Amino acid sequence: MNKDFPVSGWTSLAVHGGHKKDPTYAHQVPIYASSTYVYDTAEQGMRRFSGQEEGYIYSRWGNPTISEAEEKISALETFGLFDQNGSPLQAKGILHSSGMAAISTLMMAVLKPGDKILTHFSLYGGTDELVQKILPPLNIKTEIIDLRDIGKAESAIKAGGIRMLYLETPANPTIQCVDLEALCKLAKQHKIIVACDNTFATPFLQQPFRYGADFIVHSTTKFLNGHGTAIGGILLGRDIELIKGQVTKVHRLLGGNANPFDSFLLIQGIKTLELRMERHCANAMEVAHFLERNKAVGKVNYVGLESHPDHKVAMKQMRRPGGMLSFELKNGLQAGIDFMNKLMMCVRTVSLGTCDTLLSHPASMSHAGVPKEQRQKYGITDGLIRMNVGIENVQDIIADLQQALPS
Ligand code: PLP
Repeated sequence: MNKDFPVSGWTSLAVHGGHKKDPTYAHQVPIYASSTYVYDTAEQGMRRFSGQEEGYIYSRWGNPTISEAEEKISALETFGLFDQNGSPLQAKGILHSSGMAAISTLMMAVLKPGDKILTHFSLYGGTDELVQKILPPLNIKTEIIDLRDIGKAESAIKAGGIRMLYLETPANPTIQCVDLEALCKLAKQHKIIVACDNTFATPFLQQPFRYGADFIVHSTTKFLNGHGTAIGGILLGRDIELIKGQVTKVHRLLGGNANPFDSFLLIQGIKTLELRMERHCANAMEVAHFLERNKAVGKVNYVGLESHPDHKVAMKQMRRPGGMLSFELKNGLQAGIDFMNKLMMCVRTVSLGTCDTLLSHPASMSHAGVPKEQRQKYGITDGLIRMNVGIENVQDIIADLQQALPS
């Protein structure tokens, strides 16, 4: 696509964004399976290393297939946004081997001993462990509160020492949402960095840069890849100097780089993201209504339902309510296990964001090792089922749930 073409449609950008004409004239970006790159002369090698000449050097530092995925996601996260001077917003993404690698680079690149992170209690388990177990010995502490209460967030910030506000919205597995606009505004007043995990929403449904977030992370393993074929993550920043400088340096040295094959799969997946998300959202809404009517179900957590406490916040910042929901079975742990065992089409597994419907039972699977009291405090009750509503025909998803639920 000619860079001067004024793309106005989201999927046009998802299909063409980041693509460059390949020197071999290949239609699709090839999988550049090369660990290193050659120089015509020693002088050229010197120019590449000193930055005088653009060009790839070593695939931990950069690779053409990886670059296309990075540029595509950056284009989507900034689509239609402008900076303070009215120019199109610029951001740079660095693709990683996993979502956790992207989050680790972020923490190691921007925080220093003595800094404190403020975050919400409903958070992806890996991120929770990173901030609670790996960072404290480096003297980086974390305060965990209910960030849906802006007054509490303000008091925590005013108490001092907070360097980063780390958000994940919607969050795992209770689908809680925090107010991006209000929290970013508060953080800016106190010169605090804001990072947001946008995995559940994707850039099609929500753009954290719109509200002033400084960094966005994704587990690209999920909806961006969309087919469950590769683990990956991306860290995006809108301070280009910072991301090209310190953040790139830390990324290269920690070595959590993506690989070209997974990047290729990611590029293909992103092209259909809007189409898939529309269907995920439509199906999730129907499934949520079905579950709400079912007598065996006590509670349905879906931000598309007015009964969800964060419905208003979600609808303010998300185009549509997404494909993730969770629900509570009335009869606790055994009801959850029995239900999971009866599923016939929907898939029993963790992870999310794939075309097929995936269900997990946190109390017997991902959170089985967390003490019951702590689980319940975070809303992970014994009968809670988490569901990635897939893009199958919705009548089949509902029929499978119906036959698996207690009558
Ligand atoms: N963020 C969220 C919201 C997640 O759900 C996950 C994984 O499930 C991660 C980050 C970590 O991503 P990855 O598994 O790709 O390292």
